[in-house]
Amino acid sequence: VASRLPKVGTTIFTVMSRLAQECGAINLSQGYPDFNAEDLLFERVAHWMRAGANQYPPMAGVPALREAIARKVEALCGTAYDVDSEITVTAGATQALFTAVAALVHPGDEVIVFEPVYDSYAPAIELQGGTVVRMRLSAPDYRPDWAAVAAAITPRTRMIMINSPHNPTATVWSADDMAQLAALTRDTGIVVVSDEVYEHIVFDGVRHESCARHPELAARSLIVSSFGKTYHITGWKVGYVVGPRELMAEFRKVHQFNVFTVNTPVQHALADYMADASRHLGLAAFYQDKRDFFRNAMAASRFELLPSRGTYFQLARYHALSDLPDTAFCEYLTREVGVAAIPVSAFFADGHDDRVVRFCFAKNEDTLAQACERLTRLT
Ligand code: PMP
Ligand code: GLN
Repeated sequence: VASRLPKVGTTIFTVMSRLAQECGAINLSQGYPDFNAEDLLFERVAHWMRAGANQYPPMAGVPALREAIARKVEALCGTAYDVDSEITVTAGATQALFTAVAALVHPGDEVIVFEPVYDSYAPAIELQGGTVVRMRLSAPDYRPDWAAVAAAITPRTRMIMINSPHNPTATVWSADDMAQLAALTRDTGIVVVSDEVYEHIVFDGVRHESCARHPELAARSLIVSSFGKTYHITGWKVGYVVGPRELMAEFRKVHQFNVFTVNTPVQHALADYMADASRHLGLAAFYQDKRDFFRNAMAASRFELLPSRGTYFQLARYHALSDLPDTAFCEYLTREVGVAAIPVSAFFADGHDDRVVRFCFAKNEDTLAQACERLTRLT
């Protein structure tokens, strides 16, 4: 067949989770919790199913959920989004990102991304005939080079896709980064798509710099989040996008024919669950404990841990352990050591390999302890 994505294979997350399962390895590769969400959330879903909330909700999402999202974003970021015209519930962040690109990128448009880049961005851009412009973030700091970004902007630049806290590097952008982004996109017509799925997982008392905190950026941004990350329900595939009315109108033109809308009882249940803000506000401390547990247990190993400032990921260099490229090393770890991880080269178009692997610490302490016991045995 004449493939639209000739260079794309199966995503690394599927590949590594499958291998982990085949080998009976502890799966610290694909990012998802190995613990369950609270019973209350399931009770709310059952409640709404029995109450008859089982038919199509409004195209943009259940009003109560959009109201809860508006309240949360305003409380945290100070920007008020209109419930009717500026918030849309999506089938996870993946659909929100894909739909945003499909709605706004024309053939020949350039879209700037920061590499290592989450693996769904480039295919979404290429399917629309857009050109991916990659800004390299380099180990061990992975800081954006704003002078290089300025030099990469052309009259064809249509969009910049950002992601803080960042998967896979676990870096977090500062207020200064956001000011640089605002300055570079001022008076340009460039749209920012801000992937903030890890917005509530920022460590050490640092504040998440949402585009919604920066009025100038908010005015030209579609901001994407995901309930999967926030409430430990990655398999439910529910997220949302907020943005100014004109951008959201374009987003919805595609959304209505892409998925039309998202499953009703789950949206109602999430609206109920969001009423208690401690559930998202407590997430940073919850995951900081796991990060610290994992890092402490790994301190005895010969892995060199990079900083983890947000997300539920930890990068590790393995220079003292092996000369293998990262993909081969991850396969070895999974098959021979019994712990699966993600090779960071999978986030680079050219397979750039700093010999760094990504571990997911969204796991019970028992799981982490057992994995670290295996990883520290490696010499
Ligand atoms: N963006 C990033 C940076 C992610 O890490 C993920 C999930 N791993 C997604 C988007 C997709 O989120 P969802 O599962 O809600 O589609
Ligand atoms: N975002 C998750 C990760 O980085 C994976 C999601 C997926 O498998 N598509 O591990």
